[in-house]
Amino acid sequence: MNTTTETQISHLRAGLNGNVISADDPRYEDARRVVFTGFDSRPAAIVRAGDASDVARVVTLARETGAELAVRGGGHSRAGHGTSEGGIVLDLSRMNAVEVDPAGRTAWAQTGATAGAYTTATAEHGLATGLGDTGSVGLGGITLGGGIGFLVRKHGLTIDDLLAAEVVTADGELLEVDEERHADLFWALRGGGGNVGVATRLRFRLHEIDHVVGGMLLLPASTDVITGMVAAADAAPEELSMIANILKAPPLPFIPAEQHGKPVVIALMVYAGGAEAGDSAIAPIRALATPLADMVRPIRYPEMYAGPEPPPPAFGAGTNILVDGLPERGAETILEHLETATAPVAAVQLRVLGGAMARVPADATAFGHRGARLMVNVAAMYQQAEERTEHEAWASALTTALSDGATPPAYVGFVGDEGEEGARRAYPPATLERLARVKRQYDPDNLFRLNVNVPADMK
Ligand SMILES: Cc1cc2nc3c(=O)[nH]c(=O)nc-3n(C[C@H](O)[C@H](O)[C@H](O)COP(=O)(O)OP(=O)(O)OC[C@H]3O[C@@H](n4cnc5c(N)ncnc54)[C@H](O)[C@@H]3O)c2cc1C
Repeated sequence: MNTTTETQISHLRAGLNGNVISADDPRYEDARRVVFTGFDSRPAAIVRAGDASDVARVVTLARETGAELAVRGGGHSRAGHGTSEGGIVLDLSRMNAVEVDPAGRTAWAQTGATAGAYTTATAEHGLATGLGDTGSVGLGGITLGGGIGFLVRKHGLTIDDLLAAEVVTADGELLEVDEERHADLFWALRGGGGNVGVATRLRFRLHEIDHVVGGMLLLPASTDVITGMVAAADAAPEELSMIANILKAPPLPFIPAEQHGKPVVIALMVYAGGAEAGDSAIAPIRALATPLADMVRPIRYPEMYAGPEPPPPAFGAGTNILVDGLPERGAETILEHLETATAPVAAVQLRVLGGAMARVPADATAFGHRGARLMVNVAAMYQQAEERTEHEAWASALTTALSDGATPPAYVGFVGDEGEEGARRAYPPATLERLARVKRQYDPDNLFRLNVNVPADMK
């Protein structure tokens, strides 16, 4: 960081509604941490913005000084995009207000809220917007990627419920965007993953979702269970969305001790409808094997986020692919690779898609892979930075073995540090071309580049 920037950061401090934390501040060590604790970068300054005008000032400062800008919401980027070595971190976590309009069935939320906090606030009115599987993920981060969660088949992606947004663009202007105002920017925001500006507030549609049938079902992971589970989730009514994690059973109290270390499926699911219909929809999945634990029951929707989250690892290797289904021998391939994994925790996550998500036209938003039937998310969690190549190679070999083609499409939210190829997998050619066009208009110099990046000249 040069002295010009240092001087300007002192000026910034004076008029800010939030605060600036630099290396001499006792809060610095804590403030520089992101969820994947291995990212050890030392930013020149972390600005905890208090409002949109703070955001505009930080964006302007970064643009004028050339400092690298990291935009951080919940800090869950697996590529460590929420921090910067020597640059400026714009931390949105204090901007976390959620205002629900129960009569209008909408909510305005600041983007530093977490998915869990937003869901708790809307649940007070028996209402919900579909987000992901983890409460601590940032509302802004998940929404800008698309948002695939427990309501995806019933109500679509998170962006399918996004009605409007307030965005600070690279020139420091705060714009209100929706289908009518700055429609191209609104299009790019929905799936563009932070490439086109900093979203400060988002307005969502809410659905009446209070009691659901949901929770966790634990089954032994045989090839028949894995194949049967994908088929059953695909055949189930759209009310049912499932996130099935296949891994060697960790030594958790609810898992019988004799199963520890053996492959299991931890299936998290929500049936967004009545208890009886939910039981019938889930019955074919329960019937796949004798459950090792069955915690699927009538619950209030926010309970899906209630349990403690596993402690974050230092690093997460891996990526995801969007496919039509598992290939022949796909289940065997998954189990064989889990057997050879050397990471402390290695997992394959299957999410059957379709339903409402697939009914939105591919060109309606910057999330273009609407027809994908199945997301396979491969992750290896590890502690030592020098093991990266080994675990990335493991994950890459597995996704290649499960892919239909050489460069399989991907969901941007789970793309790791994959450079240009990551962007090409996340965006089909027509989407990529249009995103680059919006980028040329709103961020020609690529100020917002710590993301799955689409530079203005990308073709
Ligand atoms: C444990 C875990 C579980 C997950 N589960 C799901 C899931 O179920 N469904 C799903 O769809 N995704 C899921 N994800 C992926 C997650 O949605 C993305 O990683 C998302 O980008 C994280 O957002 P964040 O704000 O927490 O992270 P950050 O690291 O704070 O942000 C990630 C990136 O998003 C951009 N960004 C964040 N906020 C803004 C903003 N307000 N304006 C502009 N750009 C912004 C920036 O480019 C930033 O670098 C999960 C990730 C993890 C680690």
